[in-house]
Amino acid sequence: MNYRGRFAPSPTGHLHFGSLVAAVGSWLCARHAGGQWLLRVEDIDPPREMPGSAESILGALPAFGLVADAPPLFQSRRRDAYDAAFEQLKAAGLVFPCWCSRNDLAGGLHLDGQCLAAPVEARAPAWRLRVPDVDIAFVDSLQGPQTQNLRLAAGDFVIRRVEGYYAYQLACVVDDAFQGITQVVRGNDLLDSTPRQIFLQRCLDLPTPAYLHLPLALDGEGRKLSKSERAHPVDPTHPAPALRRALDFLDLPARQDTNDPAALLEHALAHFSPERLPHCSERAAA
Ligand SMILES: [Zn+2]
Repeated sequence: MNYRGRFAPSPTGHLHFGSLVAAVGSWLCARHAGGQWLLRVEDIDPPREMPGSAESILGALPAFGLVADAPPLFQSRRRDAYDAAFEQLKAAGLVFPCWCSRNDLAGGLHLDGQCLAAPVEARAPAWRLRVPDVDIAFVDSLQGPQTQNLRLAAGDFVIRRVEGYYAYQLACVVDDAFQGITQVVRGNDLLDSTPRQIFLQRCLDLPTPAYLHLPLALDGEGRKLSKSERAHPVDPTHPAPALRRALDFLDLPARQDTNDPAALLEHALAHFSPERLPHCSERAAA
């Protein structure tokens, strides 16, 4: 099967250092395998999004030498596909309506795949997936063997919210299959989500891609860069310094004799193999 990788940012701000690392890492893996590199804008959570963010991120990537092999897929235009997946789960009896108030959602008023809260006529329910007592195991290409008891770790997780938005886990799984992704390369903050996604793939009869979770970039105080107050936007009008830092973060050589992003990436690619990526879950950004 031909390798297909992807970079899938959420449009919650400008391209920042942590997402540049994920973009560069996924690009290098795809090019190293002689495969395709695709883009997906995960714009399914309007309350969290920043106007102009998708255009800003998509506009910045080529300035860093990161050019995709196809136009980007926008999740905001994929509602029909998520509806179809949801109906498939519903028809198979794998989901149940949840009437818990927002305050109850973490509480767990659920028993045997049912919500114990009384239906509220004035609004739609959230929908949860019935999660059995099952261990999901997979081998991450960088982080090694992983096992998670899905019931303990996630419980009956929400796949469609009260507002009608689909959860990240469902949209991600449906679109990875739609785009024919063979390997997911992304930041280690999503390692915990992977068993939920593998379980959803099984529920929906979708293939499971290989996974590689890159070390998470932390700031000087040990916080995830994208979560910290300084979100560390990178400057696409002056790409070489941030691109060198991203390559250095991935233990790759960064040429000093040119500022051309394409030349920096080609040089790194010539020295790249996935096995030589840093085997750690997080590290400080320089
Ligand atoms: Zn409930």
